[in-house]
Amino acid sequence: MKQQNTSHSDVIIVGNGITSQFFALRLSKILGRRIRIKIIDKERKDADRIKYVRALSISLSTVNLCKSLGIWTLIEPHTHPIYKIFISHSESYEEKPSFLNLDNRVNDEVASYIIDEKVLRDIVSAETAKLSNIDLIYADVDDIKLETDLVSVKVRDQILTSKLLVAADGRKSTVKKQLNIKSVSWGYDQVALSCLIEHTKNNENIAVENFLNTGPIALLPMGKGTSSVIWSVNRDNVDQIEKISNGDSKLSIEKQFKNYIGEIIKLDNSGLFELNFSVVQKLYFKRCAIIGDAAHSIHPLAGQGTNLGLRDIICLSDKIVDAFKYGLDIGSTNNLQEYQRKRMPDILTSALAYDGINRLYSNNISSLNPLKDFVINLADSIPVLKKSLVRGGSGVSIRY
Ligand SMILES: Cc1cc2nc3c(=O)[nH]c(=O)nc-3n(C[C@H](O)[C@H](O)[C@H](O)COP(=O)(O)OP(=O)(O)OC[C@H]3O[C@@H](n4cnc5c(N)ncnc54)[C@H](O)[C@@H]3O)c2cc1C
Repeated sequence: MKQQNTSHSDVIIVGNGITSQFFALRLSKILGRRIRIKIIDKERKDADRIKYVRALSISLSTVNLCKSLGIWTLIEPHTHPIYKIFISHSESYEEKPSFLNLDNRVNDEVASYIIDEKVLRDIVSAETAKLSNIDLIYADVDDIKLETDLVSVKVRDQILTSKLLVAADGRKSTVKKQLNIKSVSWGYDQVALSCLIEHTKNNENIAVENFLNTGPIALLPMGKGTSSVIWSVNRDNVDQIEKISNGDSKLSIEKQFKNYIGEIIKLDNSGLFELNFSVVQKLYFKRCAIIGDAAHSIHPLAGQGTNLGLRDIICLSDKIVDAFKYGLDIGSTNNLQEYQRKRMPDILTSALAYDGINRLYSNNISSLNPLKDFVINLADSIPVLKKSLVRGGSGVSIRY
């Protein structure tokens, strides 16, 4: 019989996405080589294979995280600050039945920036690759056992053990499936198109979101004559979006944003993404903590998924660091309960708020039109509410 190697570390993370990498980096920056981390991913993220460009809106809480990790100076040159956010509900901007204009600053600091997701991922993975306490393994997880005081994970002919397992394997998490961890989930019956456009008019660092009856469409600044479009569309209208993603038609996008972009010169780097809502009932199970999209998959209309996941990792790593410093069990139920208690309110409030907004606006129920306009116009008329919307989106008020 073949002998199985056993290898022990402090934390095993399944999934090497952006959430996982920030998590491993933060733990390592605080605890140094004392903490040994294993990351398992089923596949390499080969940058050349990914043809789409997806703009990621990173909020001030994420910027502050990057600053604390000493990587903001590497990231900032690739970002595009958003100075203003314009939100409306109309089929075409010219009709302009409702309009919300937000000054996107919190205490004079810019509240969010746009970055190409791949660029951010490359910078963070280059930083984690420098650290000798992090081992990255590309393999499938064959089996997971959560014992009273230990986790054991079977990968090929190896048994990996640790005190804590972290599920960071995204919205289709197999760790959750293997451990039978339940979520509250529903499909959106929508897909999102992401593409890059070059246009004649300069982008003045304004993000524009138009709530159409078929789903929200957002324009995000990515340089003077370049913007990213994220367009969520109900499945019934998917033909319209498929034409655009094939590059056949750009007129629909131009029509929405012509005041800001003029004419579209080029449209490419498109990708289509399935959308769903899912929040785990509990953020831990025995010795397994759940972070990022594995814990919560939310509607992208406010560009908050990654930001929410990164707030998970700040909270969970703080709990681990405290336990580690005092020689306590980092995977204890007490520790993970604290993580759940501190994170669930932020996760639920965000997930349900974006779900509610999508439900209100993405439909053809004409009797709702006055309400749709009323909500936006009301928000625009109350300066304190506008400030608190921007502060809420920046994530800086969340306490861990
Ligand atoms: C159209 C769209 C626009 C978005 N815009 C924004 C935005 O502007 N701002 C924002 O903050 N968020 C945005 N998001 C959300 C954001 O993309 C996600 O929240 C984020 O990518 C989640 O990161 P993650 O690391 O948790 O999961 P993932 O990125 O899904 O990473 C999971 C990792 O786990 C690995 N994995 C999967 N299964 C296994 C397995 N069985 N074993 C081992 N490894 C496995 C995968 O290979 C992958 O590397 C957007 C989402 C969409 C769809």
